[in-house]
Amino acid sequence: MASDIIAGTDVLAPVREVDSPGFDTRALQALDSAHYLHPFTDHGALRDRGARVMVRGDGIYLWDSEGRKLIDGMSGLWCVNVGYGRASITAAVARQMDTLPFYNSFFNTTNVPAVMLAARLAELAQGVGGIKHVFFTGSGSEANDTIVRMVWRYWQVMGQPRRQAIISRRNAYHGSTVAGASLGGMAGMHAQGALPIPGIHHIEQPHFAQHGQGMSEAEFGLRAAGWLEEKILELGPENVAAFIGEPVQGAGGVIIPPPTYWPEIQRICDKYGVLLVSDEVICGFGRLGTWFGCQLMGFRPDLIAFAKGVSSGYVPLGGVLVGARVAHALVEKGGDFNHGFTYSGHPVACAAALENLRIMEEEKLVERVALETGPHLKAAFAALAAHPLVGHAESIGMAAALNLVRRKGTSMHDGEAFAPELAVGMVCRGHMFDNGVIMRAVGDRMIVAPPLAMSTAQIDEMVERIRYCLDLTLDDVRGRGWLD
Ligand code: PMP
Repeated sequence: MASDIIAGTDVLAPVREVDSPGFDTRALQALDSAHYLHPFTDHGALRDRGARVMVRGDGIYLWDSEGRKLIDGMSGLWCVNVGYGRASITAAVARQMDTLPFYNSFFNTTNVPAVMLAARLAELAQGVGGIKHVFFTGSGSEANDTIVRMVWRYWQVMGQPRRQAIISRRNAYHGSTVAGASLGGMAGMHAQGALPIPGIHHIEQPHFAQHGQGMSEAEFGLRAAGWLEEKILELGPENVAAFIGEPVQGAGGVIIPPPTYWPEIQRICDKYGVLLVSDEVICGFGRLGTWFGCQLMGFRPDLIAFAKGVSSGYVPLGGVLVGARVAHALVEKGGDFNHGFTYSGHPVACAAALENLRIMEEEKLVERVALETGPHLKAAFAALAAHPLVGHAESIGMAAALNLVRRKGTSMHDGEAFAPELAVGMVCRGHMFDNGVIMRAVGDRMIVAPPLAMSTAQIDEMVERIRYCLDLTLDDVRGRGWLD
């Protein structure tokens, strides 16, 4: 029993002061591995290792149960855009909890924060092809499930029910529900079940470093978009419902497409009447220095999936922004749309999001990413590319990546990679964690997506730590005999 395991410890005592442990880490780890199955985790390996217990956050910093202070280079999971410890969000949530903690939006009812947030989102999305409507969900995965059902319903209403094929990309991430994982292009997820579900097709990703050898970036962007046209023609345009993509692939490793890619995708979707869907679960709400990633990339989606940054992750919330084409069909001709969640338009989540968006606007976080912090991060990462372990660095807005290589090349195409089974990225991530900075490893690609509220001085602090940890990784890798 939990009470036996924690008997005699002050396991649930609050942190008494910054940097003071106050938690029995071993007891918490024992309870954790006895009862808690974590997402995307080798549960057996975690049981042997023990989870790191996070107990507090403030600004861009986190503290674990042993009092270790970490720079959160990943904004939690790409979501804590305004940083931790915003008292005004806490206050907005508490007020809403006191007033009306829950009511649903079924059966012709609504609630004040959901109405206000829908209107606010419509205002923000004004610049994106006349988007005025929103459907709320609890997460990004549910947003993408909603998109699949909405796209299919749209084509039914339009009298073209054969249009059912949805085209996505390999190495895309669109969530972990059955539809989300099907839309995603993660081979490891598909392999663990009968995925993708019928009707979902994948083309290659626009990854210049991987597929663009011998081409200019601009040529490669057009070539990669051309894969969509080839797939539409292969399936028959009369069968194709939609194309979905992240403006910049996040979980796939901050894969930044060439500037020619998205405008060409738009042209192809327009040509065949295919709905264009932007998954902005990561890119939305300022990550790239615009409110929505499609604004930077130069396309006008019919549907936008969002989550994460809308509430800075303080309370779960997601949704779909619905453009005029689909909204018109659903509102004017569709009748009942038999889809929705208990927590669609949850008043507490919407209250948190409204306050989060107010902070973002007041502190001009999106403009700062475009003009100040984003360019600063880009320059700092470009300098890291000189490190002997780094093949090349890429960056856009407040997201950046470093490719770890065994031997540097003369371009991003001809460095020599480490053998994948060495898992050098994981070795590097371990040094980062142990030395106070959280980076994510996607294979041997090390990525950051820090809070948008991170200052330029804090970017310098983070990058200095990263440089130090790259040195430690280099020594480690050399010591293991993995370099010549
Ligand atoms: N789409 C994208 C682009 C994502 O990055 C994620 C989550 N990382 C999702 C969808 C799924 O969101 P959630 O985990 O909230 O279901």
